[in-house]
Amino acid sequence: MKLLRFIAIFIGIAVLFSSCKSRSKYVEPDNEVGNDTIVDNHSYANLQAINTIHLELELDVNFQNKTIYGVARHEMVNNNAKIAIFDTRNLLIQKVTTGKNDEEQEVDFVIGAMDKDSILGQPLTVSIDPKTTQVNIYYQTTKDSEALDWLDTLSTSSKTKPFLYTQGQAILTRTWIPLQDSPSNRFTYNATVKVPQDLLAVMSAENPKEKNNTGIYNFEMDQPIPSYLISLAVGDIVYHPFDNKCGVYAEKELIANCIYEFEELPKMMSAASSLYGAYQWKQYDLMVLPYSFPFGGMENPRLTFVNPTILAGDRSLVSVIAHELAHSWSGNLVTNRTWDDFWLNEGFTVYFEQRIMEVLYGKETSDILAQLEFQEMQEEMKEILAGKHPEDSQLHLNLKGRNPDDGMTTIAYIKGAFFLKTLESKVGREKFDRFLKHYFNVFQFKTVSTAAFITEMENNLLLSKKLSFDYDEWIFSNGLPKNSVIINSSRLKRMESLAKRFSAGENVFEPVVSYQWQKIKNSKKKKRIKIVSKIKRDDFIVQEWQTFIRGLSDDISIVKLQCLDATFNFSTWGNSEVMAEWFVLNIHRENRIIRPAIEKFISKVGRRKYLLPIYKALASNPEDKLWAKKVFDNSKAYYHAVSRNSIAKLFAN
Ligand SMILES: [Zn+2]
Repeated sequence: MKLLRFIAIFIGIAVLFSSCKSRSKYVEPDNEVGNDTIVDNHSYANLQAINTIHLELELDVNFQNKTIYGVARHEMVNNNAKIAIFDTRNLLIQKVTTGKNDEEQEVDFVIGAMDKDSILGQPLTVSIDPKTTQVNIYYQTTKDSEALDWLDTLSTSSKTKPFLYTQGQAILTRTWIPLQDSPSNRFTYNATVKVPQDLLAVMSAENPKEKNNTGIYNFEMDQPIPSYLISLAVGDIVYHPFDNKCGVYAEKELIANCIYEFEELPKMMSAASSLYGAYQWKQYDLMVLPYSFPFGGMENPRLTFVNPTILAGDRSLVSVIAHELAHSWSGNLVTNRTWDDFWLNEGFTVYFEQRIMEVLYGKETSDILAQLEFQEMQEEMKEILAGKHPEDSQLHLNLKGRNPDDGMTTIAYIKGAFFLKTLESKVGREKFDRFLKHYFNVFQFKTVSTAAFITEMENNLLLSKKLSFDYDEWIFSNGLPKNSVIINSSRLKRMESLAKRFSAGENVFEPVVSYQWQKIKNSKKKKRIKIVSKIKRDDFIVQEWQTFIRGLSDDISIVKLQCLDATFNFSTWGNSEVMAEWFVLNIHRENRIIRPAIEKFISKVGRRKYLLPIYKALASNPEDKLWAKKVFDNSKAYYHAVSRNSIAKLFAN
């Protein structure tokens, strides 16, 4: 087993560097593990005194009572600590011991009070000896263990077998494993997992390819990862390899669609590796989950979790896979030190995702995707600037006393990516790529803070190149700096103009008749030919249609909306990006005829990105709100807690 310890980086020095422009006004203490100034506002763990370097899990997954019975054995580095503090939330702790298996001794422990807003959970404080290096926690999960989504048979594709998956990010791992739940600490893990014999278990580790007849599976992750990346999925799943390095797991009912949709995964992997260095995690597989999964994807190392809404049938949404794959570098290899530095994970990943898409599908496609996301970020930024926390529009956040999920907005993702795109345009792509390669190399298998990133950027990109760039404004100021690169796709412009003309009353989708003269074969004569042209749905890609829908005027009539739906079937397309966009517009226009389509969609799809805007639109009108509450009450048991909690807030008052 290869263990990796942290090397302290003295970030304090960072602020001594003066840039060509000005000094960074931001000073952050060094909070690497092993240094006594560690600050993670979202963990109780006393990491500076004692920290886990390897975790051994014994898990018994019981579908009957929806409980995991577990033992978490922590191998730790102890700097003379007399207590070890772990994070827990809604777990039942049975006993705690110290020492290896054959010489375990029960020790005292105290479970502290739940924090005021139940965000952090409860600290589990264990009395130990300054020489203790092994702590074993015996526990079981509860119905309030929010990382776990237990799906009854009817909520799966098979309709005959149940399913379980976990979602750890940001601070939910503590709801299914008692541990030091801070991204600033990395450790290796192995696990023995017992599941019903007719189901297969997979984890963010080395995985089995098929079921065995014991129902017991062993896992090993020998590369250190932060706690939020430990993950587990259990179901009636099968595997299809694309090559010897990557493949896809899914319920067997979905596997054929997965094979088609993700066939280009090996190409995507070589595109990513050619940009920023070799893929480091050995295997890269996808695990397509049931529809209740709250995110588009989750980058669990070696096993990305994917939402089945990506299976659009035309590979139009595979940028999500490019995104999750990019996390194998930004996020998994180089991890945000605290949740205040989350933009370092997501901003880099979105930038990298766009570069992968550019290699595979060309700059025009990549630009279209980027422009659409930029529009979404601008909308959200307006809301944030007008809200209670306008400072959330900065890249570096201060989430003390708040849920780190509050920082998971498009600011971290898209403003972060546009910061990097703007920086790239300033220094030139070649230099920028060299810098990113260097950055991934220097910080691999480590965590990075905003201050450490700034030092690296100053030393290796700006100072050495004598370039000035106002990164402070991007990272520490509200809103979007004026020097941001702007994308103007001519294809999207055409869709905007089409939408404007349609809104103004022009029937742009009516067949257009024209005539052409054509030579008659073996004759000098020509004949007049009638040509009827009509815009079809297939003439444009999904993202162009999204732009069209966004471009329709706010007061467009219900009749016009119904006419569009009759022509293009937006309500039943099956492409969730278009459907979600379409439903929100129709709700605002009070077109209640499509309620059955909306109900069908939000009762099936659990992805928060789609659910939240739809429910938000419904909640803005008293009549729709009443109806939406009923749909929510019927579906909430099926949604993952991440989506459920976000939507519940809309109905709280
Ligand atoms: Zn991401």
